[in-house]
Amino acid sequence: MDTTEPSGFETLRIEAPAPGVARIVLDRPEARNAQNLAMLYELNTAFDRAVADPGVRAIVLAASGPHFSSGHDLRERLGETPRPRTVGTWSGFDAPGAEGRFAHEQEVYLQMTRRWRELSKPTIAAVHGQCIAGGLMLAWACDLIVAAEDARFRDPVVAMGVLGVEWFAHPWELGPRKAKELLFLAESWTADEAHRLGMVNRVVPRERLDETVLEMAVRIAAMPTLAVRLAKEAVNRSVDIMGQSNAIDAAFGLHHVCHAHNMLRFGLPVDPAGLPEALRPKPPQA
Ligand code: ZN
Repeated sequence: MDTTEPSGFETLRIEAPAPGVARIVLDRPEARNAQNLAMLYELNTAFDRAVADPGVRAIVLAASGPHFSSGHDLRERLGETPRPRTVGTWSGFDAPGAEGRFAHEQEVYLQMTRRWRELSKPTIAAVHGQCIAGGLMLAWACDLIVAAEDARFRDPVVAMGVLGVEWFAHPWELGPRKAKELLFLAESWTADEAHRLGMVNRVVPRERLDETVLEMAVRIAAMPTLAVRLAKEAVNRSVDIMGQSNAIDAAFGLHHVCHAHNMLRFGLPVDPAGLPEALRPKPPQA
């Protein structure tokens, strides 16, 4: 991949740390790598470029700054949301009521995440610091996850009046009992706990994260490409046949029952009581 060309990206960068390896780095550290629409679309473009480049045989997803990702950028989501461009098959993003919100989240959360999970090249997430809610979606979309010892995983969305993030892979990633615990208690889990549950492949000291992931990517890049691609395909199809794809679609519908409920009760897609103080709507001035 030619990294001498200006990438045109504002929220991430693409590096070529070794032959055959593309490294996409989320780069909004001042926002704890919160995923605004610009980042989601740029990430989609970056993945597409890496897939289209015949020289790339393995893709790393990493993040700059102290945290992997604090989730979806709620400031943008609760305010003026620029109209999404179409990556998936949905339309009607500007429609009023639940119609527009459902279309919007189909595009930028459900269909994009599914697309990234299905990329025809192997992907490794390198996670450090906080990996919250929508951050989990990015990591889960990757084939392998390597965590630094300081990584913390959390889906606090139940506290915001919604059943969990849009890509509802929790039961598959954690097992049903622990998935319920993560959701009900909205706790932060350590890298070791995530590793014990099988959600994370390896845990390494923070200073060894990048080299460990690169070493794995280089080894994978040296494998026969067809065999790697089809191994990925076979595992993904196995999980789909076990019902994951349908289960995620079913949960997505319930997710939107939660948004509709919160709109009726609070005039917001989430329960404001669960929002961080800075994002709660201000009461009207007397
Ligand atoms: Zn949502």
